[in-house]
Amino acid sequence: MRFADIIGHSELKQQLIHSVLENRISHAQLFLGAEGTGALLLAIAYAQFISCTQKKKDDSCGECNSCLKFSRFIHPDVHFSFPVSPVKGITKPKSVDFIAEWRNALTQNSYMSFLDWTQQLEIDNKQPQISVDESADIIHTLSLKSVEGGYKYIILWLPEKLNASAANKLLKSLEEPEPHTLFVLVSENYEHILSTISSRTQLVQVSRIAEKELTHVIEKNYELSLSRAKNISRLAEGNYNLAVKLALKDDALENSTEPFLAWMRLCYSLNYKELILWTEKMQEKKREGQKNFLANALDICRECVLMNYGDNSLVRISENEMDELKRFSPFITVNNANQIMDKLSKAHYHIERNANPKILFLALSLEMNKLLTQKQTENATV
Ligand SMILES: [Zn+2]
Repeated sequence: MRFADIIGHSELKQQLIHSVLENRISHAQLFLGAEGTGALLLAIAYAQFISCTQKKKDDSCGECNSCLKFSRFIHPDVHFSFPVSPVKGITKPKSVDFIAEWRNALTQNSYMSFLDWTQQLEIDNKQPQISVDESADIIHTLSLKSVEGGYKYIILWLPEKLNASAANKLLKSLEEPEPHTLFVLVSENYEHILSTISSRTQLVQVSRIAEKELTHVIEKNYELSLSRAKNISRLAEGNYNLAVKLALKDDALENSTEPFLAWMRLCYSLNYKELILWTEKMQEKKREGQKNFLANALDICRECVLMNYGDNSLVRISENEMDELKRFSPFITVNNANQIMDKLSKAHYHIERNANPKILFLALSLEMNKLLTQKQTENATV
């Protein structure tokens, strides 16, 4: 994990790099960052940078022997500790018993949440924790010599899951560690860490990923329209893990310009028979489907407004869709755009609160007809 592989945090990355280059390495640090901010990744990248044998001035090399082992989470001088639960055959579980699952989980989703990890462990209702057996294992690891001759690292994910006896067992090592040993704790919740632990560490604050950076990454990685990426980023509040989940959930909506335009044509022509059939189809969709349709309609209207202002650079959709939208966008004008979007938002609101979808979509279609044809009258007078 190089610093460059982690989204955002450029200032913090610089600080960490400088502290290493200036040989100011604190032996016990607490990386504190909310879920999905990449605090664990920063801790790993930090250790990788320290151990890299061909450091660049702004990152580890990513190619030396040490970096290659870090990239697969198999460096022999890195001891990962994380919450685990007893499972069949393992009554006193330690992190090492789940190291294969851990590497796998990190490889698949390096921004994983505690809940994601719990699901990976396939345990029922047992709350994973870091037990005294794990603390004993950490102390044993500390007593061993470094395999590769450099620093040894204990990267402990979620010290808030240390139970009291596990925490007590670690206090001495945290306070007076063996030489060339670094404790890097990674927490999501400072208040839930025992103060005996937190008071023995130096705090490294990891902020939420900036909205702009998150938008950019989500837009690029999931080929979303800019407006959808922005919406997701706003909802995710700097949590990349959540943003990915939202992006995947909304993926099916990406090519839904056509159903929206088909509806607009119906509204415009006001063919009642067809409109009734359409509302029946909408009724068959579950509430989520109806809400998604409306949310998507709102997005498309926003895109149309941007197009009308000649701002095509902001409108990220396929060429086919672009042609279709270009034909439709003049119907969304400065006069009706706000009203159209307002009606769509209100419909979304009412669907969420169990409105009858058939009545709602028929009424909405009639209102759309009024607003869309209003544009034509104005055109005729121009
Ligand atoms: Zn390297």
